[in-house]
Amino acid sequence: MNIVVLGPPGAGKGTHSSRISDRYDLIHITTGDIIRDEISRETEIGRKAKKYVQSGKLVPDEIVIEMMRKRLARKDCKDGFVLDGFPRTVNQAEALDEITDIDVVINLGVPKDVLIKRLSSRRICRDCGEVYNLVSMRSEKPGVCDECGGELYQREDDRPEVVEKRLEEYDKQTKPVLGYYRKKSKVKDVIIKKEEPVEKIVQMVFDALDETVD
Ligand code: ADP
Ligand code: ZN
Repeated sequence: MNIVVLGPPGAGKGTHSSRISDRYDLIHITTGDIIRDEISRETEIGRKAKKYVQSGKLVPDEIVIEMMRKRLARKDCKDGFVLDGFPRTVNQAEALDEITDIDVVINLGVPKDVLIKRLSSRRICRDCGEVYNLVSMRSEKPGVCDECGGELYQREDDRPEVVEKRLEEYDKQTKPVLGYYRKKSKVKDVIIKKEEPVEKIVQMVFDALDETVD
């Protein structure tokens, strides 16, 4: 089974994709993490992508599509994957259709005020990447990761000015992707109206997927 998880920044794509990957035994591929890794290793892709990520813009299609084409060609993708953060433009969705077949698209719908609150209070472990939230998922010791003791930091693009730009990019470029998959009847909506416990939303996602798995 090949799954795409779509949703605005802060919708919980990372959390839910990782839970889906555990439950259905699928490879979890996070475009944002791959790009951030390229940036920190100062590769050619990283050097090209950096200014876009820092300003909250999408990285140009040709860079991301090539990067994902290579990633999806690897053997570990053969038995199914969850895509987290790709496709984000209709161009990317069309390219993906040429690479492989997508079975189902989970759309995470979250109100804008909840997104902004979540993004501004998100903190990430520098060492293991675990995600925390100063409001709803605090670490036991402030500023320190429960899993590994690493330091928690705020992603540069989670600052309010950049968040605004990322939400704008989502509306302009990624919402049409949802339309693209709706026409193909691939979309399962998981819509929340206010902040809910994570486990409750995880269950909604599993229910939506179980409907499509035999
Ligand atoms: P979020 O979904 O919370 O915005 P991500 O970690 O998925 O965070 O993405 C961070 C940044 O990486 C984006 O703002 C964008 O610059 C870049 N990026 C990630 N995925 C893509 C993509 N599919 N196409 C273009 N840019 C991307
Ligand atoms: Zn950690």
